[in-house]
Amino acid sequence: MYEPLIAVENLTKVYRIGSVDFPALDDVSLEIESGEFISIVGPSGSGKSTLLNIIGALDRPTYGRVLVEGSDLFERDENQLAEFRNTKLGFIFQAHNLLMRTSVLANVALPGMIAGDSRTERMERAREILEVVGLGDKITRKPTELSGGEQQRVAIARALINDPLIILGDEPTGNLDSKTGAEIVALMKEINSQQGTVFILVTHNPEVANETNRVIHLRDGRISEEVYTRLVEQAEVREELREEIAAYEESKTAMAELNGQRALVFEDMREPATVADSTSVMPAVPTMKTTKFCRECGVQILRDSMYCEECGKKVA
Ligand code: ADP
Repeated sequence: MYEPLIAVENLTKVYRIGSVDFPALDDVSLEIESGEFISIVGPSGSGKSTLLNIIGALDRPTYGRVLVEGSDLFERDENQLAEFRNTKLGFIFQAHNLLMRTSVLANVALPGMIAGDSRTERMERAREILEVVGLGDKITRKPTELSGGEQQRVAIARALINDPLIILGDEPTGNLDSKTGAEIVALMKEINSQQGTVFILVTHNPEVANETNRVIHLRDGRISEEVYTRLVEQAEVREELREEIAAYEESKTAMAELNGQRALVFEDMREPATVADSTSVMPAVPTMKTTKFCRECGVQILRDSMYCEECGKKVA
């Protein structure tokens, strides 16, 4: 049976302070597929961060479910949730939460340590990812010695260290100028298209939202609108490809059938040739053996003889 990567079902969240309820999400349902690049937009207080935090298992819903690869996230205990967060998710926040007095390399390798990888493994992986985000030459620096954009690159590298299925970003470009913000979004897009990592970004910035394939608009805790951009084109391309593959498979089957029939025809055609093979070739015109008799005395005459041996009469 088909299952989306993430299925959010009737998600409702009510915060209660004292005896007062603050509804944050109201019956939100959506499906997220592998490879998507999504933004969640909406006014302040519309429930964006709450939705992101529940998908990231940082908060629990009051009602509703989140299924990841078909399994209910909130049926897991706290340890299982922590493992899920550490192995399947990466987080990028506006304030990148880097350890400021620790090297860039160690900052990126840290989640690998929690996942239990060996020191050599995680340092090697951290080095590779820092190359991917364009910081290969700055691994020994401290975050304080980097620009805001570079610090956010470190945060992206740290989010990628355990090769997550999904990266959740809460205003990941919020502290950056527009040019640096655009570079960070371009980097995330590249990672999305090359590695298939799903990105879900909460943003106030329409320029960031415009770069994503699907924009989910929230208002008062509900989805007010969903806009698909390039994803529609991608889906169309995928559909066309699927059709082409189906047609190709069909023609392959037809060819195989045809070849099978041809093989049978060849078998039939080869039958006589197999009998008259080159070592037992029959002469095209067989020698006629005629028997002659003497007209005079009726005695059989030897084949090559001109005269009857009985009466000596010449044979005609
Ligand atoms: P957004 O990210 O769109 O600004 P949030 O998800 O942060 O919105 O908040 C949605 C609503 O839930 C807001 O009204 C907010 O005040 C309320 N809210 C969020 N977190 C809490 C909390 N921990 N306690 C009480 N109310 C909260």
